[in-house]
Amino acid sequence: MKVLVSGRLPEAVIRSIAAEHEVEVNSNDYPMERSEILARLPDKQGFLCMITDSVDAELLDHAPQLKMIANYGVGYNNIDLAAATARGIPVSNTPGVLTDATADAAFALMLACARRVVEGDRRTRQGRFKHWAPLHFLGTEVSGKTLGIVGLGRIGRAVCRRAAGFGMRVLYHSRHRLPAEDEADLSVTHAGLHELLAEADFVSLHVPLTEHTRHLIGAGELRRMKPTAYLINTARGPVVDEKALVQALREGRIAGAGLDVYENEPDLAPGLAERENTVLLPHIGSATIETRTRMAELAAENLLAGLRGQRPPNCLNCQQIYGS
Ligand code: NAP
Repeated sequence: MKVLVSGRLPEAVIRSIAAEHEVEVNSNDYPMERSEILARLPDKQGFLCMITDSVDAELLDHAPQLKMIANYGVGYNNIDLAAATARGIPVSNTPGVLTDATADAAFALMLACARRVVEGDRRTRQGRFKHWAPLHFLGTEVSGKTLGIVGLGRIGRAVCRRAAGFGMRVLYHSRHRLPAEDEADLSVTHAGLHELLAEADFVSLHVPLTEHTRHLIGAGELRRMKPTAYLINTARGPVVDEKALVQALREGRIAGAGLDVYENEPDLAPGLAERENTVLLPHIGSATIETRTRMAELAAENLLAGLRGQRPPNCLNCQQIYGS
């Protein structure tokens, strides 16, 4: 069969796909243009896509032979799952293998914001570190503070485990409340979103992007946060109303923000880059050698299983496609 891989992946992974199928690969590190994907898909049975590819009904109409879509990423908001399901195409993602790397990134942002790491680095390089003084460059403590986790899934829980090492009190808000014994095991307390926002010193977002979570954090929610609190987003940009965030940062209504993802990537909302009290990463939550390799391997495993007519290990629409 014929396969399109729209991002550059490790050679060994491409070889594993090429052992069974004819593969076309994006050989550079830029996202493949949509027009190129549309032109290449008509004769393909397999598509290993990136989270930057919008796999919508129009694209699927250009791919009448498609039998399997394997997303390179756990978040699959880039894929119209209903449209793929309606065409009988299994879709998979890469859960679990990027949990720790993304939790580390969230914690890195939290520490960097609180201790003004990036601002301090900038100042030192500019030759503005002239002397030590007791009241210079004060940050805020992370240890012992209250962390509010929005979305206590795989990554939210991994952040929670890290927070235990910092002696933090953890509140969580999720769609479903955990059983009492799980809450006790994780030392977390359930809270409504508004209560969490009002109490947390750090609010860390770990929900998927869905129609329910788009702009989950808007002007009203930001207004509920403490003026000393930080917002950390390693989930998806549109979960936060970025214009409202810039306004809140500008007016000092929250202390700062650590962001890995943006509403209109790779663009930033006007004014965001000018704020000193932000730490801005280029969507690298899962970007470690170990994790990106494992993601590629898992996406390929899913793709190959689907093309063999087997149930992909991380199938998102199994129920509808395979019946149970
Ligand atoms: P997960 O295990 O599915 O966890 C998501 C959690 O969010 C679940 O606990 C879910 O609750 C909760 N949730 C869903 N909708 C909600 C809502 N409307 N309100 C409150 N909570 C809601 O997913 P994960 O593996 O932790 O990944 C989370 C997200 O992180 C991904 O979807 C992806 O977008 C993002 N991510 C980003 C990067 C990066 O590079 N920055 C890397 C990896 C992942 P229920 O269990 O009750 O449904």
